[in-house]
Amino acid sequence: MSSLTGECRCCRKPIERSRLACPPHWAMLPKPLKDAILDTYKRRDMRAYAANIGEADKIWQAAGIWKPGVPMSTRANKGMEALRDALKPV
Ligand SMILES: [Zn+2]
Repeated sequence: MSSLTGECRCCRKPIERSRLACPPHWAMLPKPLKDAILDTYKRRDMRAYAANIGEADKIWQAAGIWKPGVPMSTRANKGMEALRDALKPV
């Protein structure tokens, strides 16, 4: 297992856990927004951070590259059994 335990917030590609998005998608965000995301994260201002992330999501969605949050990470796989049960036809 590598250090790629996170996933890109827009395209769900495996990335380093400390990152929000894969390098090309992170690069397409405007610098003021990237600065704001990093700054609010450092200050642990989670309200402002979440708002900034919402802005980033909108940009990725507008570009047509944003994928819905399908659990694909190793961490999320732990919940897959429960999810499968929940999705089972009655
Ligand atoms: Zn991406």
